Amino acid sequence: MDQLPLLKLLPADGREVSGATHFGGMPTFIQNHRVPECCGHPMSLLAQLDSLDYREADLPDSALVYVFICRSCFDVQADMQCM
Ligand SMILES: [Zn+2]
Repeated sequence: MDQLPLLKLLPADGREVSGATHFGGMPTFIQNHRVPECCGHPMSLLAQLDSLDYREADLPDSALVYVFICRSCFDVQADMQCM
């Protein structure tokens, strides 16, 4: 998987976060390892969001949302895994 540079996110309101939420880098899968493919290659992780860091989104508890991007055609796919 072609990896984008890792960027950690800090909430603007200063609250504590899990550290699982980030842009780029590698996904932390909590179920099966599932990187989508596009244009014949594995997509790159654009962002990983931890539901515990983003309760305002009303996502399931203990879920990670993965947003992948194809670096050839820029198509985007999202997936979610729950504990
Ligand atoms: Zn593509």
